[in-house]
Amino acid sequence: MEYQSTRGGSTGVSAAEAIVRGLAPDGGLYVPAAFPKADLDAWRSLSYPELAAKVVGSFLTDYDPAFLQAAAADTYGDAFGGRAGHVEQVRGGLYALELWHGPTCAFKDYALQLMPKLLVQGKKNLHRTETTRILVATSGDTGKAALAGYAGLEGIQIAVFYPNAGTSEIQRLQMATQQGDNVAVFAVDGNFDDAQTGVKRVFADADVAAQLEARGIRLSSANSINWGRLVPQIVYYFYTYFRLAETGAMAWGQTVDFCVPTGNFGDILAGYYAKRMGLPVGRLVCASNENNVLTDFIRTGTYDARRAFHKTASPSMDILISSNLERLLYHVSGSAEKVAGWMGQLAAEGRYTVDAGTLAAIQESFGCGWADDAQGAEEIRTRFEQDHYLCDTHTAVAFRVADDCRGTAPMVVLSTASPFKFPRDVLRALGGDVPESDFDAMDALTAKTGCQAPAALAELKTRPVRFTETIAPGAIRDAALR
Ligand SMILES: *Cc1c(COP(=O)(O)O)cnc(C)c1O
Repeated sequence: MEYQSTRGGSTGVSAAEAIVRGLAPDGGLYVPAAFPKADLDAWRSLSYPELAAKVVGSFLTDYDPAFLQAAAADTYGDAFGGRAGHVEQVRGGLYALELWHGPTCAFKDYALQLMPKLLVQGKKNLHRTETTRILVATSGDTGKAALAGYAGLEGIQIAVFYPNAGTSEIQRLQMATQQGDNVAVFAVDGNFDDAQTGVKRVFADADVAAQLEARGIRLSSANSINWGRLVPQIVYYFYTYFRLAETGAMAWGQTVDFCVPTGNFGDILAGYYAKRMGLPVGRLVCASNENNVLTDFIRTGTYDARRAFHKTASPSMDILISSNLERLLYHVSGSAEKVAGWMGQLAAEGRYTVDAGTLAAIQESFGCGWADDAQGAEEIRTRFEQDHYLCDTHTAVAFRVADDCRGTAPMVVLSTASPFKFPRDVLRALGGDVPESDFDAMDALTAKTGCQAPAALAELKTRPVRFTETIAPGAIRDAALR
């Protein structure tokens, strides 16, 4: 399988090369040249790690299948407590795909526990011996998941940039307490887009590259713009479908709808890949919070990032530039030239409008909707009171939107974070008194609901804080050069 840039400037690249590079040299994102065909009958009875090796292997054809099997077994076994791809029935026809049973309690573990192994092996495949310096801009969850995935790996360094006051106390502590000699963490005085824009600039800066090259270092990204981030996320769409078919939720071959709490458009795009590979996916519903730039885009075909930025109770979705949308535009329009034009307009004017054919193709597969913080809180309370199902603030947005978009097919909401990652907001939604500290709120949440906090979160209280530095967005370049 070969890869090419969404903007046409790079073609015929291997999967290892795409993963090692991250962003294409022309600023585009790497996409596969074709969609491999799923073998649904052969895959339906596989364990999660076995299925992961098959799905990932169908895209990463230049990797040794035995390596992928071992890597997937190592990644999705014990580290996920045997609950990789766990599906819960919430009520009739409504399911939650719980993606937060990994080591950092958010869905990003699925990609970021596997991708470091793909990167290290990809460098070996390409006979590359340089040190790889990973730069990550994070709105919260990516940072910790990336730190946990890359910490202690040979030949890798990682620096994480998160928006100061843009994350929960728990999220901040998860990052600030990270162990390992090869990690660095910086708070950026700004919002997520400031952090992401700063990091993207560093990647595009030839002078930075030259200075690092002289020291034997090459930059790479762990953001969901990297193909190695995206491909592991395709697996759980298949796995969920097979589990639902097994329980008789729908007949084999009938469609399932998915509703995905969306920020950078990576998680939902993985569902689109699964669909194009032949999985019977009906609608992929894109759920946004008040930063509803994607809702407007899917409805009208105009992407307009020139709008107020809202800080919400679902910070991992507080994004106005959804990078992975570029991949969808490429696949539906089939034209790198068009994509390059739209992305040029976005950079220059903050907006672009796609042609009618492209919009129609998007609307054929994607639904959309959004919910504000009050609606999300109401949803947390309703799901708990009616269904005894406790969800976090991101998942709540998707439950709310799923309600408006449900048809006759089973609806699966992707549950992307443990409710204990955002204990104060969840507790407030349930109508409890809200203590100042996240840790007191965790205890109160347990007392109120009977649900236990994951050990990885509870133990943060006593872990030593290693990183406390706050920098201006303009100082990201210097930090990346240290
Ligand atoms: C990252 C994240 C999202 C958004 O996923 P994208 O792939 O960026 O669309 C949603 N919920 C949580 C909890 C996240 O961490």
